[in-house]
Amino acid sequence: MNAQLSAAEIQALMQAEARHDSGVYAKRDIMLVRGQGTRVWDASGREYLDCVGGHGVAVVGHNHPAVVTAITQQAQRLMICPGSFYNDTRARLLQRLAALVPGLERVFLANSGTEAVEAAIKFARYSTGRPKIVAAMRGFHGRTLGALSATWKKAYRQPFEPLVPEFVHAAFNKLEAWERVVDERTAAVLVEVVQGEGGVHPATPEFLHGLQRLARERGALLIVDEIQTGMGRTGRLFAFQHYDLEPDLVTVAKGLGGGVPIGAVLMGPRVRELKPGLHGSTFGGNPLAAAAALAVLQVLEDEDLPARAADVGAYLRAGLTRVSGSVVRAVRGLGLMLGVEVRTKAAPFLRALAERGVLALPAGMNVVRFLPPLTLSHNEADRIIAAWADVAG
Ligand SMILES: *Cc1c(COP(=O)(O)O)cnc(C)c1O
Repeated sequence: MNAQLSAAEIQALMQAEARHDSGVYAKRDIMLVRGQGTRVWDASGREYLDCVGGHGVAVVGHNHPAVVTAITQQAQRLMICPGSFYNDTRARLLQRLAALVPGLERVFLANSGTEAVEAAIKFARYSTGRPKIVAAMRGFHGRTLGALSATWKKAYRQPFEPLVPEFVHAAFNKLEAWERVVDERTAAVLVEVVQGEGGVHPATPEFLHGLQRLARERGALLIVDEIQTGMGRTGRLFAFQHYDLEPDLVTVAKGLGGGVPIGAVLMGPRVRELKPGLHGSTFGGNPLAAAAALAVLQVLEDEDLPARAADVGAYLRAGLTRVSGSVVRAVRGLGLMLGVEVRTKAAPFLRALAERGVLALPAGMNVVRFLPPLTLSHNEADRIIAAWADVAG
């Protein structure tokens, strides 16, 4: 499967993409054409160890054979089936998702992370009859207007104001701040267990437990956004399971489809019964994405990937922590969701890592983030550590 292109072709296609793409993406100077497992290849045939993983999507690795087979077979049978008809593959996926966490036994299927967050916000408002959503400073929940209203970063919000009313932000890991704003008008509190885009900041157990208690006391629902932390990334299937939380709604996307777009909201008993027509999606729950997600869930179990993320993640973290260059401010994370905060801008480090065959991504201006497939081996972790030592040691 040779996807190599000539230098002239690469140049021409990069120009075409730069010219005709919307312009909303800051491009890196690499054209990726192929992936397999933990590796991706650029158009000139150069191999990289992929710690970008499509922004954390490739939890089972790129092109996992079980996912490829599942979508190939499903594509030959039926790709689209509206939610108004039953479908065998969707039924199997719903059954499987509903069995993941006791108590979260109803599921809404969407097509992306931001759509899952939109649905969770709507269901929380509907369930409580209250308008207000309290989210975390530095939190990221997506780019559509509702999810964007919950997102903290000014640069993402300001160009699109006015946003949805009744969204409030409180400091992450500071329960006192939430005690002041969560009230009898609050439908839900919305948090990530480890803030991803915001710089790889894990929540403290005290904060999460306090938030859950506060939400219960004041009649608000707890929405945990597991779009980045879910599907085994942090060493448990969902990051909230490290803390024994009982969220009312959980949003999932990224890794769930193994590269095929899909999002989901898992719902507990405090979410009111939802009526036909209340919400919906043309593509939500389509059999193609459902087949992919079913395969991913099977792979996570068969290959014991959450445990592997815990093991290799701890190893990688220890290795990154040993690189004690004066430029490093902190190493943070959980499982295979790791961030190194540097004292200068992250971008030059990302370029230097790529030159050494390792792709990583930023989280804000100063954090180099590693989101490798959970199939990463210890040897590959060593390669990442060596590359990082070379650029930051
Ligand atoms: C990526 C992400 C989203 C948005 O997902 P999209 O599929 O890009 O819409 C929402 N929340 C968190 C925590 C994320 O990491």
